[in-house]
Amino acid sequence: MLNNYPSFTISIDLELAWGFWDKLNSTHLNNVVNNERIIVDQLLKIFEDFQFPVTWATVAALIDNKNKMTNIFDKNAWYAPDIIEKIMKSKTKHLIASHSYSHINFNENSKSIIIEDFEKAEYFFKTLNILPDVLIFPRNQVAHLEILNKFNFKFYRSLDKSWYKKVSKHSKLFGKVANIADKIFPFKTNPIKPIKHLNGLIEIPSSILLISRNGFKLPVTNINMFSKIKKGVQRAIENKECFHLWFHPSNFYYKEKKQFELLKDVLRFVNSKREQGLIDIKVLDQYVT
Ligand SMILES: [Zn+2]
Repeated sequence: MLNNYPSFTISIDLELAWGFWDKLNSTHLNNVVNNERIIVDQLLKIFEDFQFPVTWATVAALIDNKNKMTNIFDKNAWYAPDIIEKIMKSKTKHLIASHSYSHINFNENSKSIIIEDFEKAEYFFKTLNILPDVLIFPRNQVAHLEILNKFNFKFYRSLDKSWYKKVSKHSKLFGKVANIADKIFPFKTNPIKPIKHLNGLIEIPSSILLISRNGFKLPVTNINMFSKIKKGVQRAIENKECFHLWFHPSNFYYKEKKQFELLKDVLRFVNSKREQGLIDIKVLDQYVT
């Protein structure tokens, strides 16, 4: 079995407005421009305080000064080398993963278009001396796996296999409702095991999303979320598995203070287990055989 030692890992999708380029709305664009940098700064400070390395899944177009979206709304929503530089200069050694060049739809595009996107990502990451070996699929659409090797990718994230994901396969709306119900009620949150595939790729499923706290997600509370994550981490320790938390900086746009309190509670808890020698903190390319 891979990595027969309990571990905890965080992956963060850094995409700014690229995450919703095909359904733009001014509220979200304003949030990106006004909040994203402040949130990333706070995240970096927290990770430094806790000496906690994480994986930043980065959209490579954020490094491209002339990307095709820079004239829309505000360049700062589409171009952000300043953020990537801060991550790279952080005292905590984080990992930069690829989140594709332009957050394209992997399910709907042909192999040649995906290859072109990967080539562009590779080019722009190289300008910062980054050679990512981890791919986080845009929209978590795991597809075109057969070309990953060509682009140096050895690891990829997949979505957790929780019950509400299964609901989502049948109906998107029920899936959304079930996702929120999952965060409100104390259902089990599972630790995961990295899976090594025959082609050599290592799949790392996620355990839970640090869900946003706006609109109909308001009934989600810190107490429930913390209890779910804590139990999941404890189960990871018991089963010698991994607990994988993921989110976007945009998941902190609403109820920001509460979200940061929750994140700090989680890190404090995991840190206490690390200090007792019970769990390792890893970035995604450390899940090697
Ligand atoms: Zn994304």
